[in-house]
Amino acid sequence: MNQIPFVDLKAQYLSIKEDIDNVLQKIINETAFIGGKYVQIFENEFAKLYGVKHCISCANGTDAIYITLKMLGIGKGDEVITTAASWISTSETISQTGALPVFVDVDEYSTINVELIEKKINSKTKAIIPVHLYGQSANIVEIRKIAEENSLFIIEDCAQAHLSEYNNQLLGTFGIASTFSFYPGKNLGAYGDAGCILTNNNSLAQKLRMYANHGTLKKHEHIVEGINSRLDGLQAGILSVKLPHLRKWTEQRINNAKYYDKNLKNVGDLVIPPVRIDSKHTYHLYVIKSSSRNKLKEYLSDNGVRTAIHYPKALPLLEAYKYLNCNITDYPVVSKYQDEILSLPMFPELTTVQMDFVISKIKDFFNQ
Ligand SMILES: *Cc1c(COP(=O)(O)O)cnc(C)c1O
Repeated sequence: MNQIPFVDLKAQYLSIKEDIDNVLQKIINETAFIGGKYVQIFENEFAKLYGVKHCISCANGTDAIYITLKMLGIGKGDEVITTAASWISTSETISQTGALPVFVDVDEYSTINVELIEKKINSKTKAIIPVHLYGQSANIVEIRKIAEENSLFIIEDCAQAHLSEYNNQLLGTFGIASTFSFYPGKNLGAYGDAGCILTNNNSLAQKLRMYANHGTLKKHEHIVEGINSRLDGLQAGILSVKLPHLRKWTEQRINNAKYYDKNLKNVGDLVIPPVRIDSKHTYHLYVIKSSSRNKLKEYLSDNGVRTAIHYPKALPLLEAYKYLNCNITDYPVVSKYQDEILSLPMFPELTTVQMDFVISKIKDFFNQ
């Protein structure tokens, strides 16, 4: 075995090569590059999969959050509560609107700790952005209760949670809107940047669509100023080819996670990913914890196993948020986890032989 990659996008391409090549050729022949048929088809398919009324595609998952916040009227003087553990898109988009991101420490599942939310709410608070990190549900039912009691919007960041569920309900259907990324490495990935927003709210949907396309619904009729954040035809075509495989790929991820779980359960001080009761974890990332994380990562790297850390520094502790003067003692859980977490190779096409190799190297590390 020479190398176990962290993700293998080529393996997935090869498994659907003919369909991808065909759709690309067709779209190029039709010069259906921006907007048009293929974008509409994908939007309809994705909305149908989720059983929601509107899917508004856009350029990427970051824009999806920004556009949603902006069209919910959030801006200067407002505060938005979110988790301390996420990719920076979740919080940088809050700042982009002029609002202030307010970070909350995580629970044992690395999602926002619902017990700590209420004391961060004040008269300026307008919304909560829970992130279903790694593919696992945040405590969305409790979050919804808090949001209802305090008249706050919920925007679910589903960038890592395609087809994930809580209580047999798809994540992305709990709030006023939800945002998705189709970055190539995500569970449903395009071959470039892509994203979308889901909502059942008709008037919001119209605003979102307008804002993402220069403030127009009809060419040259600019009702407001907007931005240029569109899904292109080629990406839409690729996503439509991939979408019918998403359930199968998700099951493969879950099976791979079960295999890791079974074989890594009692190895050294390693902690396998905890799974929230009643939730369907779709393992965008398979994240273990160990007190010797750095040494383990180095050992695996020396032995040809690629791993990653999601994320090495909690959001409130980043240089970018120095101005918020966050106190590390307010984030004890996430700051402990950031030194322990390690993401193992995880993708649908990962073979048992490859996983056995990863597992044996991890065991070697703890037995040396
Ligand atoms: C990937 C990601 C995003 C942003 O998506 P892009 O398409 O890369 O802009 C937002 N939030 C989370 C949690 C992500 O993992």
